[in-house]
Amino acid sequence: MRFDLNIKDFNTINEFWAFIIQHDKWYLKYSPHNTKGIDNYLPQLEPWIINQTNDLRKKMDFSYDDYVKVIEWDNWLIRADMAKSKKFNRNKAFKFKQFCFACKKEISFFQRYPKCICRACVDETTDLQGRKVEFFNTEALGHGCQGYYSGTNQTEKYDTNTCYLNGNEYFAKEARFGGIVIQVKE
Ligand SMILES: [Zn+2]
Repeated sequence: MRFDLNIKDFNTINEFWAFIIQHDKWYLKYSPHNTKGIDNYLPQLEPWIINQTNDLRKKMDFSYDDYVKVIEWDNWLIRADMAKSKKFNRNKAFKFKQFCFACKKEISFFQRYPKCICRACVDETTDLQGRKVEFFNTEALGHGCQGYYSGTNQTEKYDTNTCYLNGNEYFAKEARFGGIVIQVKE
């Protein structure tokens, strides 16, 4: 395996981390998987990583593709914590945070949907003309996604997954474990 960085090339772990995050989209440049010796510093890096990725989730100026690189850092902590060897236990005081794309309120952490919106904002989504819409699964077990105009008891169909809120375009889709998730369009 080829490593881009070696922890040994830095005087301290603080120096290493300062180096990592000096660039704007540092997560596109560096990964824990190609940094040699990094596994020895899990407890030190944990709060710094979570603080950084929480900050990124708050600002949300990454693309969905870029976000895959962001969560490599989170997952490095999560996987080490789940490893049988138990050399590292997550400090649960450091919490992964996520925010509603529309109102910025803190919501549950859904790693898969970094730019989704909260329940209250979902209720405010409309068609292009400003008429409220709602989305439901079409099948049992939470599959499928069909839009309707709100207040029509699912009789008047809204035949697109695109919806709008405060001038932004969103898309609805079935969530991985059932229900509907609404995310901003790129
Ligand atoms: Zn919201």
